[in-house]
Amino acid sequence: MIQFHRVTKTYSRTHTHAIKDVDFRINKGEFVYITGHSGAGKSTILALILRRITPTEGTVYLLGQDLSKVADRKLPLLRRKIGMVFQDHRLLPQLSALDNLVFVLRATGERGNLEQRALVALRQVALAHKRKAYPVELSLGEQQRVAIARAMVTNPPLLLCDEPTGNLDPDISWEILELLNDVNIKGTTVIVATHSRDLVDRLRRRTITLRNGQVVRDDESGGYAL
Ligand code: ADP
Repeated sequence: MIQFHRVTKTYSRTHTHAIKDVDFRINKGEFVYITGHSGAGKSTILALILRRITPTEGTVYLLGQDLSKVADRKLPLLRRKIGMVFQDHRLLPQLSALDNLVFVLRATGERGNLEQRALVALRQVALAHKRKAYPVELSLGEQQRVAIARAMVTNPPLLLCDEPTGNLDPDISWEILELLNDVNIKGTTVIVATHSRDLVDRLRRRTITLRNGQVVRDDESGGYAL
């Protein structure tokens, strides 16, 4: 699904090695945490997977393709294979929960009964009854569940989450984590970037730990170690 082959990203202006000589492979169907303190390089890894940035050295492969060889005009198509969940839900405030999902389906050129598909996705996060609610009328946890439904509504094979529980208290964080686990069990590859020790310790999964841009641990059994 994803391979980093000796990847270094250096920002020339500040001479910062955001990541250095990073090497790992993530297979289809895995659930992987990318963890480490702030500034360790987590966002850089996500940005490389999305090809928002390119490596200074080394190669990033996504679904068998060398990302540095993908033409710019083909990027939107590639990015459609990746669902994204952010710390702040980034729902459109002027649209209902359902319409937030319909909007994505329409934007990606999907056809058929889009409202029905959106409703099925909302049902999977147990929020069908809130379909008419606007984001401001939902709790933070509900907003994040809608954001997960939105990321999954086009059935992407990969879900990338950037601090998905950063704004949530522990009980709600656990609910979100269980939801991500469900998404993974149904076959989607899930990558969660987080600095949260609680998260990583609570649901134990493969954990890639970064320190100063380098992988210091890649542990199948999980757990936070810094
Ligand atoms: P994390 O997501 O783990 O907090 P980042 O990937 O954002 O870490 O950052 C890793 C390092 O790269 C940090 O030292 C950060 O200051 C640096 N960095 C990130 N983006 C840039 C940029 N656009 N220009 C210069 N340095 C950057």
